[in-house]
Amino acid sequence: MKKLYVANWKMNKPFDQALKFSSHYKDDLHFLAVQDNVELVICPDFTALAPLNHIFDHTMVRIGAQTCSSHPSGAYTGQVSAETIAQAGAQYCIIGHSETGTTSDICAQQTTQALQQNLHPIICVGEKTKTDAQAAISELETQLAPLYETLKSSSTSFSIAYEPVWAIESGDSASPEHISAILKWLTDQLKGVSSEFCLLYGGSVTPQNASSLKSIQGLGGFLIGGASLDFQKLQKIVL
Ligand code: PGA
Repeated sequence: MKKLYVANWKMNKPFDQALKFSSHYKDDLHFLAVQDNVELVICPDFTALAPLNHIFDHTMVRIGAQTCSSHPSGAYTGQVSAETIAQAGAQYCIIGHSETGTTSDICAQQTTQALQQNLHPIICVGEKTKTDAQAAISELETQLAPLYETLKSSSTSFSIAYEPVWAIESGDSASPEHISAILKWLTDQLKGVSSEFCLLYGGSVTPQNASSLKSIQGLGGFLIGGASLDFQKLQKIVL
């Protein structure tokens, strides 16, 4: 199975910079995306989805959104539907990133919307404060509970990104042992739900820690924030 590298640009690249970066590194990003075993997804803000889809047309670089509405359409000012996201050319959608402040119930509804549009949801879960694996697992249990029914009824593949909130943008990633314990637990939980899932890690992934994290059994890839803004850092993580 290919390893999934998801670049979460958050609100860091304004429209002009997102397009400039993508045009400038188009061939280099394509080169990363065609490596054996690599699936590369760039998640800009909503406004850049369609233009980036155009720039990366005829490449293997994929586009993803950073969230979507929990509703299919209607009077929801400021929200963007999964249908629009798919029409803009995205194939992936991050769901429930801690920075969006979304509840687990809303995450489940957003996941339903994404799956209905054949978007591959990348669902974020993670404990809030630094703690041992057992305590983290009890937080994850609550976060995952509303999602099982949605995931069970879908034939589209999905990813769960284990992102401890304390590790995001902190420079302090979770240890391979901690991640490993969580992934083992997640694998057991999801076995009965689907055979089509991928487990990612996110939270201060850097060129320095990527190679030790890559050796974690069962890890299917990374959700990368800060380091994905810099092509050289992203390249070092992927290669
Ligand atoms: P970070 O962000 O790599 O900058 O810690 C990860 C994320 O929030 O998805």
